[in-house]
Amino acid sequence: MLEGLFAAKHCGLHPIKINVVVERGVNDDDIIDLVEFSRKNGFAIRFIEYMDVGNSNNWTSEKLVAKKEILDIIDARYPLREVGRDKGSAPSMDYEFIDGRGEIGVIASITEPFCSTCTRGRLTADGKLVTCLFSATGYDLKALLRNGATDEEIIEIVSAIWRKRTDRYSDERLEAMNSGRGYRAKDHKKIEMITLGG
Ligand code: SF4
Repeated sequence: MLEGLFAAKHCGLHPIKINVVVERGVNDDDIIDLVEFSRKNGFAIRFIEYMDVGNSNNWTSEKLVAKKEILDIIDARYPLREVGRDKGSAPSMDYEFIDGRGEIGVIASITEPFCSTCTRGRLTADGKLVTCLFSATGYDLKALLRNGATDEEIIEIVSAIWRKRTDRYSDERLEAMNSGRGYRAKDHKKIEMITLGG
């Protein structure tokens, strides 16, 4: 991975963003090392709260390192200033270092979900349109293609799917976590993230 990063930098790509999922007991004590690596080399890290994607990552809330804790750790060593979300609706809340040496972002899907501004559809390799990262099913666009649907018909169908979409999985997760009833990831079957992309 490091070779790839430095090869991209050598080719002049900018910005180069590194996604880091923070999991308690696994890499939460590496946060400052990662920040220093990115500051030194001109990369931009996106710290991501550990999420219950798919069915097999054994997510529990105890493994979560919340955005506030991530920021407190970094800010205590390298003070930060909030910049905001790219285009006002990107998943990452961005921050710049007050000393001018780079930036970071935090994607807080668990503690600060952003379903109300989500515009992300995903297309699986086998042709399913999935309207939420945590969906259990998708819409079979491949079958439409194989059955000879025109571009206009497919556009109309995709538009109709998107218009009636009501996904707010992360909002509902937070509501459950904050309620007395709690939240168990294994009660919610989902498509595996490896088939969806990020
Ligand atoms: S949980 Fe689903 S609807 Fe909410 S932000 Fe994530 S992908 Fe979008």
